[in-house]
Amino acid sequence: MRTILGVYNGSRQHWVGDGFPVRTLFSQETLGRHISPFLMLDYAPPTTFDPATRPRGVGQHPHRGFETVTIVYGGEVEHRDSTGAGGRIGPGDVQWMTAASGILHEEFHSERFTREGGTLEMAQLWVNLRAKDKDAPAGYQTLTSDQIPNVALDDDAGRVRVIAGAYRGHNGPANTFSPMDVWDVRLRGGASTTLDLPEDRTAAVIVLHGAVTLEEGTTLRDGQLALLDRGDEGVALAAGVDTTLLVLSGEPIDEPVVAYGPFVMNTVEEIREAQRDFARGRFGRIA
Ligand code: MN
Repeated sequence: MRTILGVYNGSRQHWVGDGFPVRTLFSQETLGRHISPFLMLDYAPPTTFDPATRPRGVGQHPHRGFETVTIVYGGEVEHRDSTGAGGRIGPGDVQWMTAASGILHEEFHSERFTREGGTLEMAQLWVNLRAKDKDAPAGYQTLTSDQIPNVALDDDAGRVRVIAGAYRGHNGPANTFSPMDVWDVRLRGGASTTLDLPEDRTAAVIVLHGAVTLEEGTTLRDGQLALLDRGDEGVALAAGVDTTLLVLSGEPIDEPVVAYGPFVMNTVEEIREAQRDFARGRFGRIA
């Protein structure tokens, strides 16, 4: 079994724009290179919104040097960006946006969700890029629910949805720049399972809601994360109640990280350059 390097609590809830009430479950500031290639995870627990006339969310803002992965569990969100891409994603869908050399985008509740109201639940994961990939063209992948393998665990313990990487030979649809697995895992209350994890990678088990006990007796509850060592074994999980988890593993990127707001680069000079480029309108525009 893998050793638990640490257990971490998510932050208190705060708003991203006026649409996304999130808890930051980890960040570059809290876990640094220990969580590489991942940078940050925001989770918006189920929140009910009344019908409205103006979409709530976050207006135009830039990103450079990394990728944002938006996973919708409930509700519906819409995105538009400076590459001309855009789309609407609902429960089970994922949007994998590559900011890389630079992108300008906006993130809002969909028109229908705004009009009808409802319960929103979503997560946004930030994934770093290697220095050599930070100047790649910006891109956008919509990964719809039907493209994402939904693999049953043994003994009816639950399911693994493979967003990126692979689980037991089932490949996720996301194209990634470096090797990683992003699994949306649901465990049935009372069930136990062991998830095999790839060798020598950063690995973390994150409970969005529910409760799981790891093999050595540590119990994780809502918004808690266990960072595991980079061994070659799997992780044994026992769910106390029905539980939704994210299980992340990835090849660490062993390079300096300088993160400032929406930019994640390798040096302070590159951050300044990103700020200058943004001020000069070099991130393009949203049509
Ligand atoms: Mn953004």
